[in-house]
Amino acid sequence: MKFRKNVSLAKYTTFKIGGPAKYFYIAKTKQDLIKAIKAAKELGLPFFVLGGGSNLLVLDKGFDGLVIKCQMSNVNFLPLKAGFKIVAGAGLPLGKLVSASAEKSLTGLEWAVGIPGTVGGAIRGNSGAFEKSISNIVKEVEVLEITEDNSPQIKILKNKDCKFQYRDSIFKHNSNLIILSAEIQLKKGDKKEIQKKIKEHLEQRKKTQPLGFPSAGSIFKNPEGFSAGELIEKCGLKGKKINGAQISEIHSNFIVNLGDAKAKDVEKLIKLIKQKVKQKFGIVLKQEIEIF
Ligand SMILES: Cc1cc2nc3c(=O)[nH]c(=O)nc-3n(C[C@H](O)[C@H](O)[C@H](O)COP(=O)(O)OP(=O)(O)OC[C@H]3O[C@@H](n4cnc5c(N)ncnc54)[C@H](O)[C@@H]3O)c2cc1C
Repeated sequence: MKFRKNVSLAKYTTFKIGGPAKYFYIAKTKQDLIKAIKAAKELGLPFFVLGGGSNLLVLDKGFDGLVIKCQMSNVNFLPLKAGFKIVAGAGLPLGKLVSASAEKSLTGLEWAVGIPGTVGGAIRGNSGAFEKSISNIVKEVEVLEITEDNSPQIKILKNKDCKFQYRDSIFKHNSNLIILSAEIQLKKGDKKEIQKKIKEHLEQRKKTQPLGFPSAGSIFKNPEGFSAGELIEKCGLKGKKINGAQISEIHSNFIVNLGDAKAKDVEKLIKLIKQKVKQKFGIVLKQEIEIF
């Protein structure tokens, strides 16, 4: 297999931050992905599966292994009695699924408009917004289970096997499970109503999120009963800058890259937020983003 060498990861993340991957490969099919993982295991290389890079902080030193960008973006709409079954590749951008579903007058995914990233990334983190999440519509997930003897197995996990919780799933706790595709079910709805909801959600995002600067979305999960953004704001940290990284003035749970931020600047802000929130409220904030 041919891997690209020394590829900057900054352009593959929405933060636009991060050093190089020693090796880099784009998997356009399930078979590509399986072959790349097998090759990495044979070569003894650590590997990392990348989706849309929208929930990540890649360190400045980069990754001393193989980054496999998951780009299996196949999608199939199959009619059911009361709606549609959609089979989507893990690399399909979530936004494309939102617009294709709306086009077919399917309801249940309007909340996801404006969430960057892929179907695979959304399932792993159980992405959600407006009190809904992907776990509400996923029926089953096709996964590749990596085994000690390097003979990976394809398995189907039903919704309940995915152990979905708030921004959490089995995939966050078992890195041997790689998401290949998912079956999602949506109901038939009124196209005008669906488009109206999508428009409202987008407007709400534009009002409340710093969309003009690169970021990775919310840095921390909301602790039960609290808004992480409000806690951070109450610590007086809104707008705090470290070099090119800033705690957003619009939404304090976002850190934005003002142009030349390094991962180390973002890490320092994360550390500062955790310290101040712990000191003032006794609450330990948990990261939503992954640092690697
Ligand atoms: C402006 C902005 C707004 C956002 N708003 C929201 C929001 O409203 N709600 C929300 O929940 N999130 C939000 N996010 C965060 C992010 O978009 C989501 O978490 C998204 O679902 C991540 O998907 P991704 O493909 O980009 O994952 P990546 O960032 O590429 O990866 C995240 C993790 O998933 C793993 N992964 C990726 N693909 C696979 C796979 N196929 N199999 C196994 N593991 C995999 C990666 O290894 C990594 O550990 C926002 C981000 C931004 C930048």
